[in-house]
Amino acid sequence: MNRKEIDELLGRNKYLIDDQEKHIRIDSRICAACPAKPCIPACPAGLYRLQAGIVGLDLAGCLECGTCRIVCPYPTAIEWNYPRGGYGISYRYG
Ligand code: SF4
Repeated sequence: MNRKEIDELLGRNKYLIDDQEKHIRIDSRICAACPAKPCIPACPAGLYRLQAGIVGLDLAGCLECGTCRIVCPYPTAIEWNYPRGGYGISYRYG
């Protein structure tokens, strides 16, 4: 069995982005004050970025794994929901 790189495997998935309703919202004020920012290294898709001290999140590519919600130390910093029906990730294997 050939080993595949994670980027290759993730690139097989399909995403339908909901432009009307974000399924994850972050409170940038809380995130800015968070010293550890564990969401950045923990997100397996690398969607959390730090630019000029501000935590940003690009939902295109979200695996809907919930890791960011679990590792965040502030209960109100992340509002997390699954995408509305028909939106989000479609996993593809092989
Ligand atoms: Fe990243 Fe998973 Fe959170 Fe999506 S749900 S932003 S993939 S940690």
